[in-house]
Amino acid sequence: MPANIDTILAAARRHCEEEILPNIDAWNKGRAWPRASSDKAAALGLTGLYAPEELGGQGLSLGDGIRVYEELGRGDGAYAFALSMHNICTYAACGFGTDAFKEAWARDLTSGRKLANFALTEPQSGSDPGTMYSRAVINDDGTWTISGAKAWVSLAGEADIYFTVVKTTDAPGHKDMAMIAIPKEAEGLSFGPLYDTPSYRFLPMSEMYMENVTVSEDNIILPVGRGLQGSLMAIDIARVSIASGCCGLMQAALDSALAYAQNRKMFGGVNLDLDGIQWMLGEVATDLEASRLLYRAAANALGTDEGPLLAAHAKRFVPDAAVKAANTCTQVMGGMGLLAPYGMDRLSRLAQMLRIVDGTTEISRVVIGRALQKRAKTLPAPVIPKGYGEV
Ligand SMILES: Cc1cc2nc3c(=O)[nH]c(=O)nc-3n(C[C@H](O)[C@H](O)[C@H](O)COP(=O)(O)OP(=O)(O)OC[C@H]3O[C@@H](n4cnc5c(N)ncnc54)[C@H](O)[C@@H]3O)c2cc1C
Repeated sequence: MPANIDTILAAARRHCEEEILPNIDAWNKGRAWPRASSDKAAALGLTGLYAPEELGGQGLSLGDGIRVYEELGRGDGAYAFALSMHNICTYAACGFGTDAFKEAWARDLTSGRKLANFALTEPQSGSDPGTMYSRAVINDDGTWTISGAKAWVSLAGEADIYFTVVKTTDAPGHKDMAMIAIPKEAEGLSFGPLYDTPSYRFLPMSEMYMENVTVSEDNIILPVGRGLQGSLMAIDIARVSIASGCCGLMQAALDSALAYAQNRKMFGGVNLDLDGIQWMLGEVATDLEASRLLYRAAANALGTDEGPLLAAHAKRFVPDAAVKAANTCTQVMGGMGLLAPYGMDRLSRLAQMLRIVDGTTEISRVVIGRALQKRAKTLPAPVIPKGYGEV
């Protein structure tokens, strides 16, 4: 039987309160992935959310499981993001991996004993994966030999396996793309220096280099021709997961501002008595409600024809709303909002990061724009009254 979603959400809430919030500043100072904490998340069932029970997962639907990141995002959006990527890779492994791969890896991934991440971006190709260089040569014995470089690899050096998108010919386009899982120990795999980021410093990120890395055909997750399409499906799930995490971030910002404003004395009352302050926070509250409805509708639509467009709407709207929420709540707190102990600056930086990762806001606009063009084609041409010119 699938896990009970309310039990899982309560566990994620506890993990946020007991593990993330008390430790986040120390994690950022330490600049190391908090593996002991992610092990605790794993023990709560948060690393195999959508994987089937027979492989050790929780068997949740995407619509239910994605709500976990709202709970984790109240603590830290980058931590929620990293676990969401692990869960997406685990879902892909259990759904599309070969039997041999599942036998070797599925239970380690669902239990969180091993962590996974996704490597698509390259130094020269972010929004436009069509310009990817990484190449796999398919050998006579069926093994694949991969060379190239990936960029912005999260959990770099920390994850135990990297679900890597590669091309298999020199032909332009994406028809020859595939996804293959490369274990950390594979000979020829190495990582560049860690990126120096202004926040989320505990999330190791770097380039990943593949120099004649040879991997068994058992590790093919998406065969030749399905690499880009499959990655886009994964990115749809990732986009909605980001929107879920952003809702947690907005709730955290709002609660900090409310707690402060109801205690800050001014003009014979408190800050929260001022209409202007209530209106500012009221807008954040409306944006949060709208964001929740949108990401949950998008999560429930994943896997249907409406999924990609709703995921784009969620990724377009919610991170922008989170940036606005973090900035508005900082403003409500006046100078205090700028001080590190309140963590508002961290939330602003996280919100901006969440606008970029897993497909930028602009790329979501491109997806929405294309859907609008498609719809426009179904509409009759407008009838222009005589004398009003032509369309
Ligand atoms: C914290 C973090 C973690 C990440 N982790 C991973 C990871 O684990 N694995 C992975 O593969 N990648 C990862 N990424 C990479 C991320 O997915 C890319 O940063 C993202 O896809 C954007 O690519 P880019 O940074 O190269 O920007 P570019 O593609 O160079 O875009 C630059 C700007 O141009 C805009 N733009 C692009 N196309 C259009 C258009 N058609 N119209 C209008 N504007 C456009 C973009 O929106 C952006 O503002 C991570 C990124 C971050 C910030």
